[in-house]
Amino acid sequence: MKAKNDSEAKVWLITGCSSGFGREIALSALAAGEKVGVSARNIRSISDICDRYPKTAIPITLDVTQEKERKSAINDVKNNFGRIDVLVNNAGYGYLSAIEEGEDIEVFKLFETNFFGALSLTKMILPHMRAQKSGRIINNSSQAGLMANPGTGYYSATKYALEGLMEALAKEVAQFNIFVTSIEPGAFRTDWSGRSMRRSNIEILDYADSVKNRLDMISDIDGKQPGDPERAAKIIFDLSRHPNPPTQLLLGAGVLASYREKLDKMKTSLQQWEEVTLSADFPKT
Ligand code: NAP
Repeated sequence: MKAKNDSEAKVWLITGCSSGFGREIALSALAAGEKVGVSARNIRSISDICDRYPKTAIPITLDVTQEKERKSAINDVKNNFGRIDVLVNNAGYGYLSAIEEGEDIEVFKLFETNFFGALSLTKMILPHMRAQKSGRIINNSSQAGLMANPGTGYYSATKYALEGLMEALAKEVAQFNIFVTSIEPGAFRTDWSGRSMRRSNIEILDYADSVKNRLDMISDIDGKQPGDPERAAKIIFDLSRHPNPPTQLLLGAGVLASYREKLDKMKTSLQQWEEVTLSADFPKT
């Protein structure tokens, strides 16, 4: 789908466009004729995109943990293009460790970027979207926002928090013609498992088999992940124009298979414990 004329072009603000999903989503929207606030912590990393689309892309310095930068990012997009139609909360990174090995300061920082950054930007943009009675908020969550596993507990916690928040938000703002969608990609070939991956400096040997081996496997998959971020970006672009987008969308065969397995197990467990579950209520009179 391409914008037929200038008035049909939607205006986007995308976080974390230096590489991976953010970069591909920006390129996909720009190729379709949209206007994009292309943001990154270091705008040199996005200068090639903005040079390629000088009329429709504006470079924005945005570290999502910085309130001043969040405010000026929104103002820059509005001043340049007059409105904001689509917010993509994409910026994020991984911090891997067994729960017991987690460093408090690193866990706070992780939440600041993956959860609070997205929350604050969303809250700042909602008044504009409510006033214009339309908008799309697309969150790059993760398979880790649906399933939690050894070594990725803290990362999962940030994404579960985002999922819960955005599920509620979707219900609150549907009345204003604002659609909220969280994307849950499986393993995609971006910089996530490479330069964007942090690991705890604390190592407890007892977790070597259950956690460390899994984390080494996650690092080793770098460059070999099955998911293609360019294809994902096209899907996300199409979602931005879909009249009835889903609240959640899984991306990739891996996450689909493992989430189905989780749902099956949950269903079995619900049935197995149904009697106990029901026994907690006051008897019906
Ligand atoms: P990526 O290529 O490493 O991109 C991560 C982006 O986030 C970079 O642009 C990075 O900027 C940016 N970022 C990190 N902290 C930031 C901050 N405080 N403020 C602004 N930008 C910040 O990896 P990616 O896979 O595209 O990651 C994008 C999103 O996809 C993340 O939320 C990640 O959790 C999610 N995701 C990825 C996968 C996967 O397998 N790749 C799967 C599920 C979900 P710098 O260049 O400045 O570091």
